[in-house]
Amino acid sequence: MSQYAMLVDVSRCIGCKSCTVACMQENGLQSGDSWLRVRPRELLTDHLVRYYIPQSCRHCSDPICVAVCPIGAIKCGEDGLVIHDIEKCIGCQVCVTACLHGGMKIMNNGKVGKCSFCSHLLQRGKEPACVTVCPVDARVFGEREVLIREAGLRMTDLISKGTDVYIKGTENDLTKVLYLLLTLMAHTVADSKESVTSSDFHNPI
Ligand code: SF4
Ligand code: SF4
Ligand code: SF4
Repeated sequence: MSQYAMLVDVSRCIGCKSCTVACMQENGLQSGDSWLRVRPRELLTDHLVRYYIPQSCRHCSDPICVAVCPIGAIKCGEDGLVIHDIEKCIGCQVCVTACLHGGMKIMNNGKVGKCSFCSHLLQRGKEPACVTVCPVDARVFGEREVLIREAGLRMTDLISKGTDVYIKGTENDLTKVLYLLLTLMAHTVADSKESVTSSDFHNPI
């Protein structure tokens, strides 16, 4: 079976949050709940750099949330997606603490929720809602190997234009959500919940 993946190209993201809104609408989330957050960041080098980190469950190949859930409410599908069963979930939040990527979100109803890769849309041959609405192709959906090649092409193009970037999600940390990240972000980006939340300069959705 094909392994689905998503490429998130931070070099293109303009922080419009169309993806966040589309995710909420498509998945029937209540106001204040969100499975996909777009974090604004600023970094001062010899000049001020502003960029945005779309952040959601990364659908790890070896997901810690599946291992720690005491009642088996999270499963890995044959297609590689990590799926959370909201009906089974008892809201203990063990998975929230265990996830290194901030992928499990605490919801207003006391349970947790996470990106499903819009699996209901995939079953109908459609793309995830967040990908469809992104106006700058910062989110691309497809087969993992195809997206790794696409990320490589984008990386070569960006580097040739003087923007140093790297790909995350293909080596030690195998995930279905691949990131194309700016190298200057290497010590600041969404690898820990601490770094995700510490430097927001606007209120996240
Ligand atoms: S829709 Fe695209 S450009 Fe807008 S915030 Fe989301 S990833 Fe970034
Ligand atoms: S919050 Fe729900 S999904 Fe997470 S570990 Fe507890 S029961 Fe499992
Ligand atoms: S793939 Fe679907 S569920 Fe996941 S962040 Fe995008 S819109 Fe939300």
